[in-house]
Amino acid sequence: MAKLIDGKAIAKSIYDNINLRVRELRSKGVIPKLAVVLVGDDPASRLYVNSKEKRARENGIETEEYHLDGSVAEAQVTELIKKLNVDDTVHGILVQLPLPKHMDKQRVLSCISPDKDVDGLHAVNAGALMTGSRGFIPCTPKGILHLVKSTGIDVSGKRCTVVGRSSLVGKPAALLMLNSDATVTVCHSRTADLGSITKEADILICAAGRPRLITADMVKPGAVVIDVGQNKIDGKWCGDVDFEPVEKIAGYITPVPGGVGPMTIAMLMQNTVEAAENTIVG
Ligand code: NAD
Repeated sequence: MAKLIDGKAIAKSIYDNINLRVRELRSKGVIPKLAVVLVGDDPASRLYVNSKEKRARENGIETEEYHLDGSVAEAQVTELIKKLNVDDTVHGILVQLPLPKHMDKQRVLSCISPDKDVDGLHAVNAGALMTGSRGFIPCTPKGILHLVKSTGIDVSGKRCTVVGRSSLVGKPAALLMLNSDATVTVCHSRTADLGSITKEADILICAAGRPRLITADMVKPGAVVIDVGQNKIDGKWCGDVDFEPVEKIAGYITPVPGGVGPMTIAMLMQNTVEAAENTIVG
């Protein structure tokens, strides 16, 4: 039976460290602040923004929300971002995705100053991850790496399969594992015979957004299984992994909810604190 990787408990220990760092910042007169840009009225986005803002407040990080109508022109969003870029009281800028269809996501994200890009989605930060240099790492993949490392398993030399190749999760997660010296395979919707590849993995990261895509016969006994998927079926959350049968053969597994989700928000807070610390010279 797999050991459960408790994302909530691991996130809690990260908040303990964040609290210390926020206290230190405040003692130096720096109040970390996250600006949140929400465009439109997508109910899921509203919920995500609420929980990010709540977490921030609980941890001494100020938030400033800019809620724009879903019909505004892209230029209005980019103008707002440019103002926030030069506001010294703002350390992190988060543009909640998805943006309305008439906007070019990458063009909007590219307006965020890389120093304030706490979601790590600007091309400069993506490039830093690619080259293994310093930059903001996207929150979900960063959280995934923490969860994998929490098992105590040495990632170096392990076979890791990532299912999903989005710029938000799959690709950066693959790069992070590669930078940790795993041997990485990336699968996607056009991958043939997915199960034969996932079954080779010592570490299996599933980020496809397909409920219960990964069945027990696709998992290597003893593998570390990280389930990123957040799917709602009949009002209940389920992941990309068929949890009960896979739990019986994996070595470690994350639950949904309570695995990757809490870590994503914790990493956003960590990146915001880091952005504030970076403004202190010396
Ligand atoms: P996405 O739709 O942008 O990408 C999905 C990827 O999965 C694509 O690369 C696609 O090729 C691949 N894919 C789809 N069907 C597949 C199949 N049958 N076999 C193999 N690959 C397949 O999604 P995303 O933004 O990367 O998110 C993925 C999942 O992770 C979603 O369920 C999302 O809700 C969840 N998510 C969770 C968190 C969190 O904090 N827990 C954060 C971000 C995303």
